[in-house]
Amino acid sequence: MLIVYNPATGEEIGRVAKHSAAEVKAAVDRTCAAFPDWSGKLAKERSDILRRWHDSVKADKEAFAELLCRENGKCLSEARGEIDYGLGFIEWYAEEAKRVYGDTIPTHDRNAQVMVTKEAVGPVAAITPWNFPFMMITRKVATALAAGCTMVIKPAEDTPLTALRLLEYARNAGIGEGVLEVVVGDPKEIGPILTGDPRIRKITFTGSTAVGKLLAAQCAATVKKMTLELGGNAPFIVFDDANLDDAVQGLVSAKLRNSGQVCISPNRIFVQQGIFEAFTERLKQAVAAIEVDQGLREGFVVGPLVNQLGFDKVVRLVEDAKAAGATVLMGGKPHAKGGLFYAPTIITGLGDDSPLATQEIFGPVFALYSFNEEEEVIERANSTEFGLVAYAYTCALGRSLRLSRRLEAGMVILNSGSVGTASIPFGGIKQSGYGREGSYYGIEEYVHVKYVLMAGM
Ligand code: NAP
Repeated sequence: MLIVYNPATGEEIGRVAKHSAAEVKAAVDRTCAAFPDWSGKLAKERSDILRRWHDSVKADKEAFAELLCRENGKCLSEARGEIDYGLGFIEWYAEEAKRVYGDTIPTHDRNAQVMVTKEAVGPVAAITPWNFPFMMITRKVATALAAGCTMVIKPAEDTPLTALRLLEYARNAGIGEGVLEVVVGDPKEIGPILTGDPRIRKITFTGSTAVGKLLAAQCAATVKKMTLELGGNAPFIVFDDANLDDAVQGLVSAKLRNSGQVCISPNRIFVQQGIFEAFTERLKQAVAAIEVDQGLREGFVVGPLVNQLGFDKVVRLVEDAKAAGATVLMGGKPHAKGGLFYAPTIITGLGDDSPLATQEIFGPVFALYSFNEEEEVIERANSTEFGLVAYAYTCALGRSLRLSRRLEAGMVILNSGSVGTASIPFGGIKQSGYGREGSYYGIEEYVHVKYVLMAGM
């Protein structure tokens, strides 16, 4: 039995029976059995069903937001934002389902026609993390189903309730048994069943780089297509020609979203030497104005970390930095509220080899580094095995273009702390993974290209 706790209060909020290996295999069987019928539907039929799912969830948005808040710890306003974001993917792919076009290619044979069609890759398995328990599910499910794939999904053990409720609404909207299945339980048992089954043609995974590598190795045996949305170590660069107020605001919203537990959270904040003090002062004022609290109330608040493991990691990273001589300008310790709450922290005086700089912090910790030159900061920003997102604030056009070309990341965000919506291709390079979610590019991950030669005309 899986017991689900509210990370803000420690209270039990639900129990979910874990699926046995036999039950997981049966879910995979249903996913495979449903594929011919689902992929054979007209695109318009799939689109209509997705649209019904979207509308029914939207009608109960407040109930979903409350569940999300209890299950994950993020505040209500963020939970509502996640639901809008997640619903955006269902809406987007309900439309995109109708636009999976092929091509004709000028023929190399006078008596032949050359065509390229796009076909659903087959039954897909998805594994998702706890930090966006709603959006992670809708982003993967809507894209797969739009393309004609069926999907079995394993949500994170910390947050299975949102996934199960989404399944309930999916069923009511006409997404039948096998078209979407949710399996819950021990990842070490479920993972190999999904990766090892040759009938599953693709794995889409969002989570840590370590688990992504493990899954990629497991998938090699059956040569599955994969989408890997893995860890990040985002640089956030502020140049002395930037609008400082905008930069502070962008940084605070990007960093404190979900208490810093986001793969695109700024991890290393590089501030140009000449403005370092002024920027730090404004940042302190902005962070001091934000409350830390449980999230079931109006207004933005910084919530708890999701579990003891995540909390202990943040404590350890900050304590090690302090022991190595870093300067804590704010926070630097668990919050007085106790439990899993960690105080928003600003810390400086760190080396680029500090664990705070090389590891994903996944907590409300602003780690600040100073730099002198553009060339220097580009090199330092790129000196990581990750490449998910890079942020920079500058008012210089030429510099913006140089940064957009030279920063090694799947996404470069200039003069904003917000990455975007369903319409943009989300994803990383280097050890942050491969494949894209969202936009026109997202659906391409769920189709394969088939070349058809019709000769002898
Ligand atoms: P995680 O430990 O990799 O877990 C992610 C998912 O993988 C969970 O469902 C987990 O199940 C499952 N899992 C764990 N071990 C597994 C195994 N041996 N075989 C199969 N599945 C396994 O990551 P996390 O700590 O939950 O999430 C944080 C990480 O995700 C961070 O690195 C973050 O950057 C990354 N992330 C990336 C993106 C992106 O889009 N690039 C977005 C969000 C998060 P259990 O929950 O049951 O353990």
